[in-house]
Amino acid sequence: MKVLVVNCGSSSLKYQLMDMKDERVLAKGLVERIGIEGSILTHKVNGEKFIVETPMDDHKEAIKLVLDALIDDSHGVIKDMSEISAVGHRVVHGGEKYANSVLIDDEVMKSIEDCISIAPLHNPPNIIGINACKELMPSTPMVAVFDTAFHQTLPDYAFTYPLPYDLYEEHKIRKYGFHGTSHKYVTKASAEFINADVNNYKVITCHLGNGASICAVKDGRSIDTSMGFTPLEGVAMGTRSGNIDPAIVTYLIKEMKYSIEEVDHLLNKQSGLLGIYGVSSDMRDVKKAAYENNENRAKLALNVFHYKIKQYIGSYTAVMNGVDAIVFTGGIGENSPENREAICENLDYLGIKINKAKNINAIGVNTDISADDSKVKVLVIPTDEELMIARDTKDIVSNI
Ligand code: ADP
Repeated sequence: MKVLVVNCGSSSLKYQLMDMKDERVLAKGLVERIGIEGSILTHKVNGEKFIVETPMDDHKEAIKLVLDALIDDSHGVIKDMSEISAVGHRVVHGGEKYANSVLIDDEVMKSIEDCISIAPLHNPPNIIGINACKELMPSTPMVAVFDTAFHQTLPDYAFTYPLPYDLYEEHKIRKYGFHGTSHKYVTKASAEFINADVNNYKVITCHLGNGASICAVKDGRSIDTSMGFTPLEGVAMGTRSGNIDPAIVTYLIKEMKYSIEEVDHLLNKQSGLLGIYGVSSDMRDVKKAAYENNENRAKLALNVFHYKIKQYIGSYTAVMNGVDAIVFTGGIGENSPENREAICENLDYLGIKINKAKNINAIGVNTDISADDSKVKVLVIPTDEELMIARDTKDIVSNI
């Protein structure tokens, strides 16, 4: 069975075609600047790149080009579109309705649309992507895999904000959590890697990319996570503030006359590493400025980044009454030994100690970086959200 995985953003689209017989990636790629001048498709087969630069007015045109690339005589990997047995779509918000992936039908589409009010930035492009695929492949089954689904096991005291309760009952304002597909994947992969029983396993998964979130997973179930009602809550990120005193928002509006849009932009796009360092949100740039150029603002940005993550590790160790493993994943978690070392520094009271040599050599591969006398395993586990989406899609489609 061949499964196409689609992840649609507002002006971009990532895709991957997998052969589920051996979970091999046949082709993958990225379409950027959809609906904007300079639209470009980068299609990769066996590491070789093919670039198509042509105007694309909307996601339907983008998906049409992706399908053309997949069946192209020179760089295609299938003969015909009918070889694609199913499409798995990443959908950011499934609200309270979906604790698992589902086959997309009219009712599911309606539920995804109902979540637009609580995910105005994320669900609309996901819906556009699903509709575009449905138009081009009307008889191919489609599955929605939600970023929120894994966190539907949070207990009520973890997902309830201490706000007037009708905001939850009537407006569904609660913690949802995101990056669920990644936290679920690395939970299972890390348990397998150290031969632990996932049903008797306390793990804190740190997904550190441009967006970052931490998750407490007990016996395979997410019991708390740092992102909340939106992906803005939690640790400091590339451009997002994470947790701040909520009164700063009213202060900015009342005293500094910011508009609501300006506050939104400030918290989502101008804060985090970028906000403190002031030059770049990219961790590689911040690291270079801090470690090579000795720039104080870059050092401060790193210190804040590490401190917030450390706080979550401490608090999640407390809520789980212990921890068996800490997992690092995402672009930063997988590739940056300096960040892992700084986060784990002075956590030996909790039984967390890393082996510096193992840590330095762990780049993008499953690695146990814990010191021999560490009570807690510290692991680097590359995430694979596309594989997770493809597996769920295969499982659901095989049962219809
Ligand atoms: P996204 O959230 O967009 O999926 P990624 O998981 O790809 O993000 O992570 C992007 C982040 O990973 C960027 O901040 C980038 O600088 C960082 N990153 C990638 N490689 C390295 C590296 N070798 N050292 C430090 N940071 C890295």
